[in-house]
Amino acid sequence: MTEPVQPRKPDSTNAQSGPRPKPPSIDALLKAPACQDLRERHGHVPLVAALREASAELRARQEPLSPEAVTAWILTSASERLHAAAQSSLRPVFNLSGTVLHTNLGRAPLAIPALEAIGRVAGTASNLEYDLATGRRGDRDVHVEALICRLTGAEAATVVNNNAAAVMAVLAALARRREVIVSRSELVEIGGSFRVPDVMATAGAKLREVGTTNRVHLRDFATAIGPTTALMMKIHPSNYRIEGFTASVAETELAALAREHGIPFVNDLGSGTLVDFRELGLPHEPTVQEALVAGTDLVTFSGDKLLGGPQAGFIAGRADLVRRIKKHPIVRALRVDKLILAALEATLKLYADPERARTGIPALRLLSRPLPSLEAAAERLLPPVQLAMAGIAEVGIAACRSQIGSGALPVDLLPSCALVLTPRRRGGKAVEHLAASLRALPRPVIGRLHQGALHLDLRCLEEVDERVFVDQLALLSKAASP
Ligand SMILES: *Cc1c(COP(=O)(O)O)cnc(C)c1O
Repeated sequence: MTEPVQPRKPDSTNAQSGPRPKPPSIDALLKAPACQDLRERHGHVPLVAALREASAELRARQEPLSPEAVTAWILTSASERLHAAAQSSLRPVFNLSGTVLHTNLGRAPLAIPALEAIGRVAGTASNLEYDLATGRRGDRDVHVEALICRLTGAEAATVVNNNAAAVMAVLAALARRREVIVSRSELVEIGGSFRVPDVMATAGAKLREVGTTNRVHLRDFATAIGPTTALMMKIHPSNYRIEGFTASVAETELAALAREHGIPFVNDLGSGTLVDFRELGLPHEPTVQEALVAGTDLVTFSGDKLLGGPQAGFIAGRADLVRRIKKHPIVRALRVDKLILAALEATLKLYADPERARTGIPALRLLSRPLPSLEAAAERLLPPVQLAMAGIAEVGIAACRSQIGSGALPVDLLPSCALVLTPRRRGGKAVEHLAASLRALPRPVIGRLHQGALHLDLRCLEEVDERVFVDQLALLSKAASP
């Protein structure tokens, strides 16, 4: 926001004796024609408050202004205050950071049917927990449980606030004051302070580490099993990979060992995809189906990572275990809202047909965008972006690599294409200033700083949004020129 009058340094000798601007009364200001429009757009009470604040600021500033200038100053300042207050704090941005499922940028964008489903139930009563057939109280999981079971082969499932909550609920319900056996190589911290040992402690479970950082064997698990063992657990190391002299135990072997001892085997998959990523031309990522086929008793996974839905956490697997978890009071505290269930149901329905999932779910569509389509987008965007950035930055095209994000497939990067903006003004913080001016646009553009340039990875800029992206760049030339 630009200030209507340049603030002056307070002059200490003049401050007490200088001419004090006398703002008109609020009633007089309200009569100005500009106020009619402001009142209609923002309401009477906010308008009066903004006029008061603007008048007080002017008084404090001690500007020597003519009476007409005083009124104009107050009206401009009040209008800017109202405009700033009316803008949403949470708003859409262009994610050109190169990380598709960026946790700080809201992870998965929702599919259109999911948006429509939210719109249908958000503003009205719904059968959220009401059985329409019997007229009795129902269970909110019914809206997604059968779908998730059909897609994954699980016997039963429940949904909570996110995957961290899903893990917490499993541990609290099944392992309180008892031991959970985990390989030392999987005691990971996942972005946003999800640390496996801390989650265990919070849930009241005792962590029993086995093996070493790089190697763990079946016998390590076998010897750790004792009378206080509640669970054996596998955790997808998500955002890092151990390479070199390593050994891990196959899921099928762990599952068989657990079964032999009557101990549930839980797999925290993290991303939990429902489709074979190789069919999308992407590196393999373990699916929920594969985990269950391997003999896992319970799988936990996120709704807003590779699944491409809203923030949620699934617990899927053996019906008796799911039933026990659902009875635990913590699940009541972690339950999901009707808007989330509406979006989840619609997203899961798209998975009935793999082709509709690939094209209809934005996360899958963006991740599987082929390189030629990204290169074509760069060629298309280069001339208008060069024009808009003339005098501000040089614009070129460079090959780059996108990241999936949210801890999935940390090492495998997707070939992509970026516009590279190099500021014309050299030195200092020129590129930081350029990045800040793009973030200050009506729909902020989030890029990535790399070697003195701003890289805009085009993978997440879909063709339908290109126009809005380019048009708003015209606002830069005024703001950014010295
Ligand atoms: C991402 C992740 C979590 C946390 O999931 P949220 O949905 O972000 O709460 C837990 N475990 C693993 C392995 C993960 O990758």
